[in-house]
Amino acid sequence: MDRAAVRSSDVARIDALLPQTQCTRCGYSGCRPYAAAIVSGEAQINQCPPGGNATIRALAQLLGREFRPLNPANGTESPPRVAWIDEARCIGCARCLSPCPVDAIVGAPKYLHTVLIDRCTGCELCLPPCPVDCIEMRPGPAPAANQAELNRARHDSHTDRLQRRAEARRREIASKKAAAHALRAPAAP
Ligand code: SF4
Ligand code: SF4
Ligand code: SF4
Repeated sequence: MDRAAVRSSDVARIDALLPQTQCTRCGYSGCRPYAAAIVSGEAQINQCPPGGNATIRALAQLLGREFRPLNPANGTESPPRVAWIDEARCIGCARCLSPCPVDAIVGAPKYLHTVLIDRCTGCELCLPPCPVDCIEMRPGPAPAANQAELNRARHDSHTDRLQRRAEARRREIASKKAAAHALRAPAAP
């Protein structure tokens, strides 16, 4: 097995122990990038607040390292929380939709938005984009036993959808440019 394959399987084994909220509190853009940073030696095993000490113990056991407590610079462990939208103040701008890594917010431009409680991981990524600060965090239900798997599947589908949309937009722009170029081209004598 080559070095790249070994590293890729190492990343996958570490990623399998992470909560998959994609909250970025570890300092990386998601759980898998954090797993890759652990493999490369760039990150420590104690940077994931949603996973907390249980995840650190699991990582320490997998990697044969010493347990070290959660780094407070990355945040603290907290009871489950979910986002709640004050619908009386929501202006339907839809800016909270695409930042949600697990598609837990439903709504359409100019309509009220609401959070699907059973999907929300409490990652808080929807809070900063809201221009009227009408999203707040409230106590939520305990996560399901297979929550990380559900989060991963929802995040994969979210990422696929955004990529498909970006690709369709690229094709549309290319096609419009080609049409404009054809109009400008001098007619054959
Ligand atoms: S759940 Fe943990 S590993 Fe995943 S992005 Fe959040 S802090 Fe990083
Ligand atoms: S609704 Fe907000 S807090 Fe909940 S998962 Fe989506 S972005 Fe995270
Ligand atoms: S970002 Fe805020 S105002 Fe805009 S749709 Fe979402 S909740 Fe409503």
